Amino acid sequence: MSCPDRRTFLKRTAMASAAAAASALFPDLVLGEEIGRYLGGSADLVWKKTPCRFCGVGCGLLVGLENGRAVAVRGDPDSLVNRGLACVKGYLSVQALYGRDRLTRAMVRRDGRLVAVPIQEALDLVAAKLRETTEQYGNDSVAIYGSGQWTIPDGYVASKLFKGALGTNNVEANARLCMSSAVTGFMTSFGLDEPMGCYEDIDHADVFVLWGNNMAEMHPVLFSRMLEQRQKRPDVKIIDLATRTTRTSYAADRSLLFAPQADLAIANAICHEIVARNWVNGDFVQKHVSFFKGKTDIGYGLSDDATFVDEPEETTWEEYVRFLSAYTPERAAEISGLPAADIRWLASLYGDPARKVTSFWCMGLNQHTRGTWVNNLVYNIHLLLGKISSPGNSPFSLTGQPSACGTVREVGTATHALPHGTVTNQEDREFAAGIWGVPVESIDPKPTHHAISMFRALDRGDIRFMWIQVTNPMVTLPHLNRYRGAERGWARATETCLACHLAKPL
Ligand code: SF4
Repeated sequence: MSCPDRRTFLKRTAMASAAAAASALFPDLVLGEEIGRYLGGSADLVWKKTPCRFCGVGCGLLVGLENGRAVAVRGDPDSLVNRGLACVKGYLSVQALYGRDRLTRAMVRRDGRLVAVPIQEALDLVAAKLRETTEQYGNDSVAIYGSGQWTIPDGYVASKLFKGALGTNNVEANARLCMSSAVTGFMTSFGLDEPMGCYEDIDHADVFVLWGNNMAEMHPVLFSRMLEQRQKRPDVKIIDLATRTTRTSYAADRSLLFAPQADLAIANAICHEIVARNWVNGDFVQKHVSFFKGKTDIGYGLSDDATFVDEPEETTWEEYVRFLSAYTPERAAEISGLPAADIRWLASLYGDPARKVTSFWCMGLNQHTRGTWVNNLVYNIHLLLGKISSPGNSPFSLTGQPSACGTVREVGTATHALPHGTVTNQEDREFAAGIWGVPVESIDPKPTHHAISMFRALDRGDIRFMWIQVTNPMVTLPHLNRYRGAERGWARATETCLACHLAKPL
């Protein structure tokens, strides 16, 4: 056997490590002869660039093709996001195509059992049930529920079919449960939709505060970039502020645990300290910040008929300071369980004029019963200090899924949305009708249900057909037992499965 050159040796070592890590995590996974042949050097691969579709980080991957078939993967060294790295999910993206448990056929429930049928038969059944249901119960008796894993073309077709052809705005996605808080946070704090920071901030920040964000496991490539900075600059600090201990906690300089939902009190207490210690950046606040107040109590808010409109009312700096006076670190400590000394220490990191601070968050703040408000409160910290929109200073809401909000924005996969517009706006309806090639009258000008309301309607029987794609709400919805009951009842009544799982082998 000939001795490999240095480049081949490094390549094989990297692939072997990824393969070993993957098999340790997924013992049932067959890594396949493809990897074996690649490691043995017999494969003649053509490498193609692609984005990783697993999460919202946006890493660039190189996929190795042999005779047109994907057989290997590695991080793209030219990608500015991951610079040649990938996490175990990215490394497994090729193996996932060939998993033994991957569904490759349509399944239809008959007599309580799922049976395999030809895809055409399953699609004909879906079409027949759609027609039958709308004819009997009206357009709004059918719905589609997708996810942030929907590509833009997937969402385009869903939106066109349901809004443009079937005439119902019953189109929602699981992005409603997470990134809606983030978007409403952007809109209410800044009047513009999109995150404030960029990944390059990681290279400049001195302190990272992770608000309920297990980045070591959920955004591992970005987390490794933070660890790299700490290695290069030992004064860099990573603070894990969370409700549970995770792998991020073990790697952080401090793990600060607090009671669920108490992050709002902690954020207000940090602002209280910033004001009390005179750390406010007066120039920045005077030039760029205005003060508004909204509701502070919306009750439980989770009943079927709960609605509220948070209409902001202009207020003053003095009134804001009076509001903050109720959130001393001691009071926030009572609410959160996080000691007042820790809250003061955290505030001092934010307040130190010599340190650049990036706050990262994702589902911990966004999938929250007060998600928009807690987004607003973290922005308040950065706005008071003027630590925003400069290298290393960022309040940065991360995304979990690759198209969590992108698809909604681009093609309108929320009940109120249209491609780059809203159903209530005549011009937006005309624009959507034009690109879909449907009469404008087909598009209903009234939104129907947000995601949770849609499942409540399913439970009540108002919605009688729901097509669920690329998400598993019967595992992930809050208050799940109620909807599981609805789904079981519905599935029994119609003898049709709710989800159509398909995968195309390459
Ligand atoms: S961090 Fe996300 S985008 Fe990057 S490789 Fe992992 S799963 Fe893919």
